[in-house]
Amino acid sequence: MSEDCIFCRIVDGELPARVVYEDDDVLAFLDANPLAPGHTLVVPKDHYETLGDLPADEGEAVFAALHRLTPVVEAAVGADGSNVAFNNGEAAGQEVPHVHGHVIPRFEDDGGRPVHAVAG
Ligand code: IMP
Repeated sequence: MSEDCIFCRIVDGELPARVVYEDDDVLAFLDANPLAPGHTLVVPKDHYETLGDLPADEGEAVFAALHRLTPVVEAAVGADGSNVAFNNGEAAGQEVPHVHGHVIPRFEDDGGRPVHAVAG
């Protein structure tokens, strides 16, 4: 737990979130500023800044959650696909320094732009 980390505070229940999945290691919740309907964030419950800081077993738990959730999120919003991505480090556009995967639903008619163009 990092006191000034918003995702730690969400994990601890101090800040509200629209939680869509939880297990012992991972929490998933809707992004507050979604790039598409159903935009979901998947975070380890423990605080690590970047993927390189994340122990392998917790990385496996995050990936397992992404693997399980991605088709569920797509089905929930009727998406045709999704971008699953990590912004890793400030230079890569990571704004919240608590490692998290994005599941961004995509639709046939959304222009098919790559995710960096969508986010930009
Ligand atoms: P990053 O640029 O990969 O670090 O993405 C951070 C994401 O967290 C952005 O998509 C934000 O919209 C999202 N975000 C920031 N604060 C909150 C929050 O309090 N709840 C849910 N999502 C948040």
